[in-house]
Amino acid sequence: MTLFSPNIDCVDLTLVVVAVERAVDRSPDGLTYALPPKLSELPEGARVEVPLGRGQTPTAGWIVRRLAANEDTGIDREKIKFVLGQDPSGVVLPGELVQFARWMSGYYACPIGMTLASILPAAVRKAIGRTERTLIDLPAELPDVSKLTSRQRKALGVLATIPRPIEIGDLAKAADYSSTEPLKRLIVSGHLLAVKKTAVEAGFIARAGNIAKAPVATAEQLAAITAISLDFGRFAQHLLFGVTGSGKTEVYIRLLEDCVKRGKRAILLVPEIALTPQTVGRISARLIDAKVAVLHSGLTEAQRNQQWTMLAEGGADVVVGARSAIFAPIPDDSLGLVIVDEEHEPGYKQDSAPRYHGRDASIRRAQLAKCPIVLGSATPSLESYLNATERKISALHRLSTRAPGLNTPKVTVVDFAAERKEIRDRGVHLIGPTLRASMAKTLDDGGQVLLLLNRRGYANYIACTDPRCEWMLTCSECDAGMVCHLDSAGAQRRSYVRCHHCLAEQLLPKACPDCGKGVTVFGLGTQRVEEELTRLFPSLIEGETMLRIDGDTMQTSAHFHSALERFGSGQVRVLMGTQMIAKGLDFPNVQLVGVISADTSLTMPDFRASERTFQLVSQVSGRAGRGEKAGRAIIQSFEPDAPAIRLAASHDFERFAALELADRKNFGLPPYRRLARLILRHTSETECADRSSALCEEIRSFSGVVEVRGPSVCPIARIAGKYRRHIELLADRAADISRVLAEARTRGLLKLGEELAVDVDPMSMV
Ligand code: ADP
Ligand code: ZN
Ligand code: ZN
Repeated sequence: MTLFSPNIDCVDLTLVVVAVERAVDRSPDGLTYALPPKLSELPEGARVEVPLGRGQTPTAGWIVRRLAANEDTGIDREKIKFVLGQDPSGVVLPGELVQFARWMSGYYACPIGMTLASILPAAVRKAIGRTERTLIDLPAELPDVSKLTSRQRKALGVLATIPRPIEIGDLAKAADYSSTEPLKRLIVSGHLLAVKKTAVEAGFIARAGNIAKAPVATAEQLAAITAISLDFGRFAQHLLFGVTGSGKTEVYIRLLEDCVKRGKRAILLVPEIALTPQTVGRISARLIDAKVAVLHSGLTEAQRNQQWTMLAEGGADVVVGARSAIFAPIPDDSLGLVIVDEEHEPGYKQDSAPRYHGRDASIRRAQLAKCPIVLGSATPSLESYLNATERKISALHRLSTRAPGLNTPKVTVVDFAAERKEIRDRGVHLIGPTLRASMAKTLDDGGQVLLLLNRRGYANYIACTDPRCEWMLTCSECDAGMVCHLDSAGAQRRSYVRCHHCLAEQLLPKACPDCGKGVTVFGLGTQRVEEELTRLFPSLIEGETMLRIDGDTMQTSAHFHSALERFGSGQVRVLMGTQMIAKGLDFPNVQLVGVISADTSLTMPDFRASERTFQLVSQVSGRAGRGEKAGRAIIQSFEPDAPAIRLAASHDFERFAALELADRKNFGLPPYRRLARLILRHTSETECADRSSALCEEIRSFSGVVEVRGPSVCPIARIAGKYRRHIELLADRAADISRVLAEARTRGLLKLGEELAVDVDPMSMV
């Protein structure tokens, strides 16, 4: 293929802007190419191969814009190269998705090619599971049949009456042939038509849940449903603020039904794995007439490709999925509703470029599709709450009581410092007398227990036994302590230590390297709770009636799914674990929820620490009392008077939000101001310092109304051998931050990669 056309400007060639997938931020919006005549019809959204650089290296990219015939590109036409061809995957993204990617690229300061690359699942790009089959159809005009045998004529007659195209073997059977040979002869003679059809084959995706009947909606549910349905056909924001167990899912289901009935499609986002199995089951059990696609991390590659292809071909009405399902390739002009469940979840934020927030991106996607968006939560993010109250850019719907038949759990905060004094024997106690007594009673009554501790491992401090020696084990590559884990392989327990930041591992040292004395471990961890539970309740058997759920035991979503099934069946009596168990679970026999320590999230170096703690305590308490029996929650804390804990216990979101918002306003923090972080990383400390100072200085030269703070050392100063500094941009309006980031990109200052990350609206501050 010729790459250069000698007289490109004499011919009427179509010029296109191509976003190259490799992160070239030299031209963040794409490069101009020409379409060769036989590809001149390629639409926007098509994945193509283009020559790149001096070596003309074939590189994948996307057509993001077709230029008008007379559009002036300002580029020397002689130098424009040709698109090499369409990508073998044949993928063409819907126009709305291309537009969405363009917005995302600008807002999150990520090159457009990189953004588009992250939209397309690898499974689709590699066409995993795609097969090509040959099917049989009737030709448009049937040649003379007088020379055919009567059985051949019969076969043609059969084919005329059944759904076509059909597998050749199936037609042979239908026409009573024992072989396909006579039919193959009909293809040669032109009496039958062979058509090629591609399909993606994948294992069946199990759908939990039997067909369920709809309950009678409550007045509050009806009010929300009615108000939201009035906005079908136009963009409008809605916040569904419903306490845990108030029936938010019921509201989603009815809106989804309504949307499908109107011939439109819908996206429902749920936080990563934790909620997916139960929510998907409940939704598909009710939407029996709708085709529900799922997109989440628990799918095999072939399944992911199959679901994606089904969506792209318009074969699904509703897609339920985690964060990235906001990139579902729904055909243009057919998206009618977007719902984000548990919109406050920090897991909606992606922690690699593009660092988008699934909720915020959803709002934009709905805006582009001109359809309503519903954000649902029992503990709305302060961003969404402010939008619905003071700012009034979103409607607010409340579900103030639990669904009929459900009780509000009684929440008790235990002052753990006081309780510890009462315990006479020495040693470690993670479960105090109040929680212990309540657990014993619940188990006697046949109830189930959920126990939360938001920390993996056995203990998170490893130090010298001699209090005068100051040695503490820290990671050699990170500015952080290491966590002790037990390895229960075999009878002999072996302890090792792991860094939760860089995942480095080593055996637990036997002696202090500084003074030679012994080593002690202290602090909290789920493994230690497990050990204590076995001691306190000898009848509980780990792995049978008691399960630990954390990132160490639940390596795949299949593990998690099966653990939840065993809990649902009643076989498992106590489910203990990290925040994975705190969210969205709906098990009617949970009569007690215990929080081992509410303080782990309170002490994080993050301005959202209080908000997180409130959410965690409210959400986990909300898992109790979802059946006929009353539910109870016991929260252990060394800071029982912290407003986040006290107000979560009294179910008082409004008071908490008022207090916290006042603080944020005082300190000029989100949601009142917008924030972006530029994080610089380097193996050399001085290089890191010099580069961040230089970048900061340059940005200040054009920052205008945007406040530039820093550079300063990140709360975790070094991770995996790299020193870290950050610059913070703050402004009253998001548009001002966008302007500064755009200018920085144009000046070539923001080359994303190992050494620089840009985080707009960050959810993590470390
Ligand atoms: P949320 O999502 O707000 O936590 P769910 O949607 O999980 O609440 O509802 C909690 C329980 O109440 C579910 O078992 C659901 O089937 C039931 N439920 C919801 N709405 C009603 C209703 N109107 N009448 C009776 N039961 C309901
Ligand atoms: Zn480390
Ligand atoms: Zn020592």
